[in-house]
Amino acid sequence: MPRQKKKANMPTKHCPSCGRPFSWRKKWENCWDTVTYCSERCRRGFKGSGKKKDGKI
Ligand SMILES: [Zn+2]
Repeated sequence: MPRQKKKANMPTKHCPSCGRPFSWRKKWENCWDTVTYCSERCRRGFKGSGKKKDGKI
């Protein structure tokens, strides 16, 4: 029985904004060390911890 190919071992981080783990993405290949949030939305939304100050999406 052939083994299933394992997915590439991507590094993961924990998003402090939404609290979910996220994994490496191609677009972060050059700046992974500086990536803190899983998405731009989380990055912006983290300020104010919970308060929805910015309604723009
Ligand atoms: Zn997030």
